[in-house]
Amino acid sequence: MPDRAGIFMDRDGVINRPPPPEERYITRPRDFQLQPGIAAAIRLFNERDLPVAVVTNQKAVAIGRLTLPTLQEIHERMRELLAAEGATLQAIHYCPHRESDQCECRKPRPGMIIAAAAELNIDPRLSWMIGDQARDLEAGRAAGCKTLLIGSASVPTSLVDVYLRKTTDLAVWTQENFHL
Ligand SMILES: [Mg+2]
Repeated sequence: MPDRAGIFMDRDGVINRPPPPEERYITRPRDFQLQPGIAAAIRLFNERDLPVAVVTNQKAVAIGRLTLPTLQEIHERMRELLAAEGATLQAIHYCPHRESDQCECRKPRPGMIIAAAAELNIDPRLSWMIGDQARDLEAGRAAGCKTLLIGSASVPTSLVDVYLRKTTDLAVWTQENFHL
């Protein structure tokens, strides 16, 4: 049985600036911009041997707004931007489906967390799911994780173990809660 903790992290709105409301999706690599402070937080997780797995719904694929090769390019840009600040992701899991596909991976279902946990030998019950929407935290709860909400979405307090107002708060929280 795995006995190590890890970090599961939503992408849009947590790692990168959310897409503009009128566009809804990031469909071009050049539109992918890191949120302030997120690379520093991921670097701190790296230094503490906490694997970081991105778990992201990408319905744009299902509805024909985004191809898988372009999604891969966007994720290469994500890795490059993070690497420039010394931060590394251990896994990236995406769900390319829409609600009506009734897949197991689309959040609020926990399929991506379960798959990433198995891949990285992580025990979800020792781990955190970090997101900016209720469905992120629902997926985390369903997988047995502790939950951390960042941002201004209104989310039932029962879903939230820790709340941070902005992404720049995450590095401080990490230093205070995970010692080297
Ligand atoms: Mg999000």
